[in-house]
Order: sequence, then structure tokens, then C-alpha cells
Amino acid sequence: MEVAKRLKSIPPYVFAEIGKKAQALADTGVDIINLGIGAPDQPTFRHIVDAMHEAIEKPINHKYPPFGGTPEFKDAAAKWVNDRFKISIDPKTELTSLIGGKEGIHHLIMAYVDQGDYALIPDPAYPVYQSSTMLAGGTPHFMPLLPENGFLPDFDQIPEDVAKKAKIMLLNYPNNPTAAVADLKFFEKAVQYCKKHDILLCHDLAYSEMTFDGYKAPSIFNVKGAKDIAIELHTLSKSFNMTGWRVGFAIGNAEAVANLAKIKSNIDTDVFRAIQVASVAAFEGPRDQIEHCNNLYIQRRDLAVKRLTELGWKVEPIKATFYMWLPVPPGMTSEEFSNQMLNVAGIVVPPGNAYGPSGEGYFRLSLCLGADRMAEAFDRMAKHSINFEMGKAKI
Ligand SMILES: *Cc1c(COP(=O)(O)O)cnc(C)c1O
Repeated sequence: MEVAKRLKSIPPYVFAEIGKKAQALADTGVDIINLGIGAPDQPTFRHIVDAMHEAIEKPINHKYPPFGGTPEFKDAAAKWVNDRFKISIDPKTELTSLIGGKEGIHHLIMAYVDQGDYALIPDPAYPVYQSSTMLAGGTPHFMPLLPENGFLPDFDQIPEDVAKKAKIMLLNYPNNPTAAVADLKFFEKAVQYCKKHDILLCHDLAYSEMTFDGYKAPSIFNVKGAKDIAIELHTLSKSFNMTGWRVGFAIGNAEAVANLAKIKSNIDTDVFRAIQVASVAAFEGPRDQIEHCNNLYIQRRDLAVKRLTELGWKVEPIKATFYMWLPVPPGMTSEEFSNQMLNVAGIVVPPGNAYGPSGEGYFRLSLCLGADRMAEAFDRMAKHSINFEMGKAKI
């Protein structure tokens, strides 16, 4: 049977492809170390799981939830962001629940992008920005994230005719895959640019709590006037080790929130009520377990910095996220390096170009494995002479 053109237009989801290659090797008995995982390895915090146990016993929680989230969920989520970022989100008009950030991104793009419209998308980026734009019939316009600009897009490089036809801009700081962070000055520029061109600014704040060494990530709503044109997506996936639960929320411009809620109400029927109850426990619970997990990521980061330095890389410790965005050895492509890592050492690292054309020349290494397994991966690299100089012979 013939599938729709829109499905043919999008490339296969990168992580599914890499997973297939790794699985084929694993099936032949190779012990694969996966440094490509983008999900916390630790379990959901105990008090959240306990709240779920209790909630699931109550028949009220077995029913359809109300569209946009239960009042308890919305109030607790608003209180959490308002306290955390010192902002003032009204839970009734400026917040709606999401079945995770990925769902929110897709439906927001479906709500704003028509055939022929542009979406301004960072390059490299979380692949969903591009695929959802294409599913909506829109055209992605890449904003390159370059090391010389601290992996922030340069809005002056966006052609005027593209800006005119752009409906939405996506930003994501702390950033996946580059681990870059943005300050308020940059967010101010983004808000100004989007106001000038009447573009909805969507800030994907998936890594707000995963920050290190005293760094605290800001919200786009720390910029005055941002609510006129911006919406911000939050998810419990990364902050509370809840990737499988599928829960998040969007905040910001009331009209954008309502439009997102409208499209959602025609497609899904919101988050399982028991999960919303458990989420309230997450919002109201202590922060110590977030800090505990962040310390774990810091230990792994420091290990990776030390071992990669020994292997010839110049590495700066990241301030946020559980990703390291590293150049491949000179003389090699991203694809070549990623394949070598897998075929020679049994290590999975996604090639940078899987996140966009400007990702060529990089690979992403994630800190979602125990330090022992990470150390084993670096041992294997040393043993098989996989180092920053390995491509030199070819130059
Ligand atoms: C993980 C991630 C998300 C969303 O994850 P959900 O589990 O769907 O909430 C969104 N954006 C980025 C950049 C991510 O890395």
C-alpha cells in the first residue's frame, strides 16, 4: 500500500536507525556500550512512584482527564515554574498539560505552520523540530549553531524573505545536542527579533534542572515582554527521571497556549490522571534527588573530560544537560568516526550530522551510563587507538 507523501518526506528517526545497527552487532554477541542514550539511567524518584501507587487505586483517576490538565496539576505546575524562575504564570490561561515535550513540539508546529510557511530551526537540533515541520507541510530554515558564536544562532543571517514567511522559531537552552547555555541577553535578542517579524517563539526548556557547578538556567519569561510572543515547553522527563511517564506542560502567551490546547483536544485526551497526581508530588517534593542526580552527571562528566583529554581531545566541562558535543578527529567525517566507534570498539555514539548539517564534524557523547561502563568505553578507545589524532594519517 502507498503511504502518504508526508511520511515519505521525512527521514527515518535517527535513534531508531542507530539502534538497529547496534542491535545487529549485539545479536552477534558483541558487548555494546551505548553512549548515545538521551535519557536518565536512574529510576523515577521514590516519592513520585509512591504517589502513583496511591493514585492508581482511586477510581476517579481511571476516568478521562479534563482537557489541558487537572486543576491540581495546573496549579502545582504553575507554582513550580513561578517559584523556580520568579515569573508569574496564570495556571488557568497560561498553562496547558502535555504528553511530554515531544508531543508539545509537534502539535505546536501543527497549530502554527501551514504549507509554504517556514519554521526557524537550530542546526544541529533535536530532530523532532525538523520532522514535525515537514509533517506539517512547512519548510525548515536552519539557523546554524557555530562554536565561534557559543552555539547560539545569529539572527542577522536569516534572510528577510524567510523571516517574512516564518511562523515559528524554536530555541532550546540548555541545548541538546551541544550542551550550550544561553544568557538573558541572547533571549532578549530572540524576543526582539520574533516581535519584529511576528513569529511565535517556542523555547524548549527540557533541561532546566540538569545544571552544574552553580549554573541556573533561565526561562524565556525572565525577559520582559516575552509573553507577548513566546511559549515555553517543560517536561518532567529529564528533571525527574520520568521519560516513560509522558508528562510535561507548556506555559506562556495565552493565545498560543489556547491554540495548542485546541489542536490537542482534537487529537489526544491528555495525561493519565494518576500520572498527573504523581506529577504534583514531583512539583511539590524536595529538590535533593535532583541534586543527587546532577552530582552523578558531574562525576561522569569529569571522568569523560579526563579520559578524553588523555586521548587528545580539548574538552571544556559542560554546565548543563547530559551531553558532550565533541569534534571528530580531523580527517574523518562524523559518519566514519561513529562507524569506527561501533565496529571497532562496540561503542554507540550518534554522528553529529544526524542532528542537522552543521553537526558534521561532531559526535555526541551522553552521560547516561554508570562511570564503570564509561571507563570501559574509554579503555576500549585507548586499546584500539581511537583518539583525536587517528585521522591524521589520511590528511
Ligand atoms: C528529551 C527532549 C525533549 C522531550 O522529551 P519528552 O520525553 O517528550 O518530554 C524535548 N526537547 C529536547 C531538546 C529533548 O532533549
